[in-house]
Amino acid sequence: MSMDIKYLKGIGEARAKLLADELKIKSVDDLLLYFPFRYVDRSVFHKIKDLVDNGSLMQVKGRFVRFTKEGEGRRKRLIGLFTDGDSYMEVVWFSNPTYFEKTYANNNNEYVIFGKPTEFKGVWNMAHPEIEIYNPDKPFTGMSGIYPLTEKARKKGLSSKFFRTVIENYYLQTKFEKVRETLPDELLKAYHLMPIKEALRNLHFPDDPRALQKARERMKFEELYYLELNILRLAKERFERNKGYVMSKVGDKFNAFYSNVLPFELTGAQKRVVKEIRGDLLSGHQMNRLLQGDVGSGKTMVAFLSMLLAIDNGYQAALMAPTEILASQHYETIKAWADKIGVEVRLLTGSTKASERREIDEKLRSGELDILIGTHTLIEDKVAFKKLGIAVIDEQHRFGVAQRAKLWEKGSIFPHVLVMTATPIPRTLAMTVYGDLDVSVIDELPPGRKSVDTRLFFEDGRNMVYRMVMQQIQEGRQAYIVYPLIHENDKLELKSLEKGVERLRTIFKNVEMSYVHGQMKPAEKDFQMQRFVSGEAKILVATTVIEVGVNVPNATVMVIENAERFGLSQLHQLRGRVGRGADKSFCFLMSKQTGSKDTKKRLGIMTETTDGFLISEADLKLRGPGDIEGTMQSGVAFNLKIANLAQDGQMVTLAREAALATLEQFPVIYQQDMTSGSWKIPDIPNREALQIILRELHLRFATDVDWSLIS
Ligand code: ADP
Ligand code: MG
Repeated sequence: MSMDIKYLKGIGEARAKLLADELKIKSVDDLLLYFPFRYVDRSVFHKIKDLVDNGSLMQVKGRFVRFTKEGEGRRKRLIGLFTDGDSYMEVVWFSNPTYFEKTYANNNNEYVIFGKPTEFKGVWNMAHPEIEIYNPDKPFTGMSGIYPLTEKARKKGLSSKFFRTVIENYYLQTKFEKVRETLPDELLKAYHLMPIKEALRNLHFPDDPRALQKARERMKFEELYYLELNILRLAKERFERNKGYVMSKVGDKFNAFYSNVLPFELTGAQKRVVKEIRGDLLSGHQMNRLLQGDVGSGKTMVAFLSMLLAIDNGYQAALMAPTEILASQHYETIKAWADKIGVEVRLLTGSTKASERREIDEKLRSGELDILIGTHTLIEDKVAFKKLGIAVIDEQHRFGVAQRAKLWEKGSIFPHVLVMTATPIPRTLAMTVYGDLDVSVIDELPPGRKSVDTRLFFEDGRNMVYRMVMQQIQEGRQAYIVYPLIHENDKLELKSLEKGVERLRTIFKNVEMSYVHGQMKPAEKDFQMQRFVSGEAKILVATTVIEVGVNVPNATVMVIENAERFGLSQLHQLRGRVGRGADKSFCFLMSKQTGSKDTKKRLGIMTETTDGFLISEADLKLRGPGDIEGTMQSGVAFNLKIANLAQDGQMVTLAREAALATLEQFPVIYQQDMTSGSWKIPDIPNREALQIILRELHLRFATDVDWSLIS
């Protein structure tokens, strides 16, 4: 443990307690590792008339003219009228008015006011800005760090200026001489990383943007390196521990299917993945593989072939889907293939009749049944296989790991597990987040797939959009019209869907419509869906319930209302519902004309590409580091202070590579404590943390998961 911060100049007991309680800063190490989340250029003074409200902090130089108190009770505030000589703005305090008035009134000091300007009724103001007396001999230069603070910490007087001062004092006193290098020399050299002292100094007081960049890189590398070391170590342990069934034969069923039934040539990517899976099944270790593939990339076929490998070796297979509709669609698809080669498949869901259920149970136990497809009913305790060899889970994010574990516990040896997802997470990131899963990617779509013609429309184009939808319907096609449902319980949004339906009924007269949303009873939802799947309803009005996996090849057009309210990856998933048949398909994004430039840029990307990985990358880049809350959350999950798994993909790759090399040399790794100098085994990120980030990422990539579907 390094020195307690209460001994630092400028801190003391009370502040130390506040820092510990509010920000978990207890030691000097904690303090040095408490980094600004952004920096502002303090060499520039703005004129009041040039201020802009774009969320950034700005500084102005000038004098206070007068002070007034306004409001009553909790709305009471002190307002200082401030001028830069040309124009005026207001500085507002909501607490300690007497103190601030005493400090800043009745003198003729020139002040530098630094804060976030907002405009109200034509007057600029800043609330609780940082204020310093302007000193021409000590000019403001360079970049100044803005530290993350909680509301309470701020109220109790902590500020960015406080952090800068305390850390600067400590630096001036010690030159960070107690700080020790925490990365091995070889790594610093091999990856051209900035030594730790220099990095810490630059993170708190950047020499220039380049040095700051190098400093951030170094700290990120360090965090990710130790994280990867641990994850790799866990993976290795798991691999050595978990024995798996050996499935060495490629047998009759597989061959019969492959040479006589397979309705198309596998894509190169599908072949590669099947090979990877076959390798796992031979290894003697339990397979734990994540299969990522964009919507329509053909994951079902890969799943089926994997199941055949198991069946040929005398095992049974299970396929779990998140909803009944998806499960029955899988069932239809797979049964059509399986019937031709004498493989027995059954469907088990919540609505399976008791008598049928008994029959299924019997056949499962006798081993007569080869493949069981279903929803989470499959992991209910009563389902017992004779010899479950492989479990395939479609759309991973709908199942918690606890549920998965249940499935695994069915045999003495765990069955092989293949988890399929269309959520496009960059590969290294996936390997980190999913910890000890292996990852396969289908990065190629079947040939001849027409990309969905995607266009952005504003309100003035609405009639045209409806005309185009009508035209598709008249040609015998079907349409989706999607409304956003931001929160499951967002009554307001629901209304907008219901209103939408009403309006659509007046526009599409005599056209059969069905509609679904997350708050419907499952039976009602199934009924409505079924009407659309069967072709009886021509238009399906829906919330994001339809996001995952629904397959209606005859649907060729999708309209997405308030498209700006969806994440790009989610739009991509939604759009994947059309373009599944031979016909040209359309996706019309409806948005407000008044949307921000960023919004238009984001939606523009959707009209330009249909590549899920490109889209998810663009999504991350556009959201940028501004997404502080998200960053902090994943930080907590992995104890990351500066690296961001979602955004630092390249760094994750480097760190992983370095960690792999290290592990080959040394089975156990020690990390030197920064200021105490002691050696320790770095913290192992716990399973729970992995789960949190996993969920967070899914929320991030496929936002608004409709949890009501699985509960
Ligand atoms: P997803 O990966 O989204 O689950 P599916 O498995 O549902 O995709 O496949 C989408 C469609 O592509 C299905 O109709 C499937 O039969 C078809 N398909 C899969 N693989 C190929 C292939 N190699 N060539 C042509 N069509 C294919
Ligand atoms: Mg699928």
